[in-house]
Amino acid sequence: MDCQEIFETLSEYLDEELAQVKCRELERHLKTCHNCRVVVDTLRQTVSLYHSIPCERLPDEARLRLHKVIKLK
Ligand SMILES: [Zn+2]
Repeated sequence: MDCQEIFETLSEYLDEELAQVKCRELERHLKTCHNCRVVVDTLRQTVSLYHSIPCERLPDEARLRLHKVIKLK
């Protein structure tokens, strides 16, 4: 897995919807790649922040901010 693939599977990973095999590949990559680790930590904090807000819907603005963080779109 390269960084691009990691970014593409991150949201599934954080929602715990990622297949176990992929999960393990991703975690293996995280051990060797500092950049991806920072991104995952940031996303994880953001996700848990939104989970703690009573409103379930992730605002579009937050989604855009996430995309900016991972520099995909
Ligand atoms: Zn990486």
